[in-house]
Amino acid sequence: MSKVYFASSRTKKWSYDDSMPGKLERLLKEIGMMNYFSPDEWVAVKTHFGSEGAHRIVRPVFLRKVVDALKRIGARPFVTDTVRIKGLDYLEVANQNGINHLSVGSPVVLADGLYGNDNLMVKAGEILGEIAIASVIYDVPAMVVCSHVKGHINSGYAGAIKNLAMGGVSGYHRTYGWKCGRGSMHTIGEGELVWDAEKCELCYQCRDVCPLDAIQFKDDELVWEDNVCWRCGRCERVCQSESLTLPGDSERFIRSLAEAARAVISTFEPNKIIYINFMAEIQPECDCMPAADVPVIQDIGILISEDIVSIEQASIDMLLGSLPLPGSLANDRDIKDGEDIIMKLHNKPYILQIEEAERLGLGLRKYELIEIK
Ligand code: SF4
Ligand code: SF4
Repeated sequence: MSKVYFASSRTKKWSYDDSMPGKLERLLKEIGMMNYFSPDEWVAVKTHFGSEGAHRIVRPVFLRKVVDALKRIGARPFVTDTVRIKGLDYLEVANQNGINHLSVGSPVVLADGLYGNDNLMVKAGEILGEIAIASVIYDVPAMVVCSHVKGHINSGYAGAIKNLAMGGVSGYHRTYGWKCGRGSMHTIGEGELVWDAEKCELCYQCRDVCPLDAIQFKDDELVWEDNVCWRCGRCERVCQSESLTLPGDSERFIRSLAEAARAVISTFEPNKIIYINFMAEIQPECDCMPAADVPVIQDIGILISEDIVSIEQASIDMLLGSLPLPGSLANDRDIKDGEDIIMKLHNKPYILQIEEAERLGLGLRKYELIEIK
C-alpha cells in the first residue's frame, strides 16, 4: 500500500499556510524532496501548457512552488511539455497561459524540440510495440509530474497516467511517422479520417483546430492530407455534427495509455519520479481543446505520491465522492448525486487505465490517504 498525501481546497483560516500554494509547500515538505532528488540534478517539472482558449491548466503559481522546492535542495528544475501544435506557437500558448521563465522561476522548454520530432524509440508493450519518447524526458534523470485532473472525451478520466502517456510521447517520429507517436493510441489501422459530407455543416472548426494544416476545404469538399496528419484527433473531437471519424477502439485507447506511461517511466531509475494531481477547475474536457467549459465538480484539493496508480485511484475515488455542480455539463446531462459522474459524462471505461497500470506493475490501487490540515 502506498502513501498519498492530500490537502483540501477548503480554506478556513486567513493564513498563508491554509492557502493552496501554502498547502502545496507543506505537501512537498511532507513527501521530502531529498528522498527523490539530489543537489545539481536536473529535474523535469512535467505539465501541460494548455491551449489558446483552454486556460484551466495547473496554474503557474503551483509550478513555481514545485520549482522553488527543488531549488531549495540544490536541484536544477525546468518546466516542460511535448509539442502539441507548432513548437513556437506552443511556447507562445504557454506564455499566454502564464507559464514562462519569469513566472515559474526556471527555464520552460519543449521536451521534443521545436518540431516535435526529437525523440527516441522505447519498448512499450503488446498494444503499442515501440513508441517515441520525447528526448528531454528520456534523458533527464528525475521528474515531478504535475497533472490537472479533469474529464476527457476519449479516456473519460485524465490525470497523471494520461499526462505521461500523451505528454511524454511525441506526435511524430522521423522514420516511423505518426505510427509510433501519440496517434498510435488515438487510432487503429491506417487511421483513415472519414468525412461525411451529408452531416457536415461547413463550420470549418476542424480546419481551424488542426495543428498541421492537414485539412482544407475546396468547393465545400474536405481535403485531408494523409501524409501530413499526426492522427491527434482534434478535428474529430471539435466536430459537433459527428461528420468526422478517425477509426478507434475506446478500450484499446484507454489501456494503451497505461502502456505508454510505463514506457515513459521505464526511462527513469526507480524512485526518481513523484506525482502531483491538482483537483481544481475540474472541467469535462482535455486542456488541449480550444476552450474550457465550467467545472463539473467543485475544487477538491492537491494530492502527492510516489505511486502513479495510488494517486490516480485516490483522485478517482474523490471525484466519485463529490457532488455534480449546477450550471455545468453535469447538470445538462442530469447527473445526480452519487452517480458515476465520469462515466455519465463520457461513457468510457475509464477505470481500465488504472487497472492496466496496476497489472503492468506501475503501482498499487490500494493506498493510505494522509491528509494535512
Ligand atoms: S487528426 Fe485531424 S487535427 Fe489532428 S493532425 Fe490529423 S487532420 Fe489535423
Ligand atoms: S468540424 Fe465537422 S461540421 Fe465543421 S466543417 Fe469540419 S467536418 Fe464539417
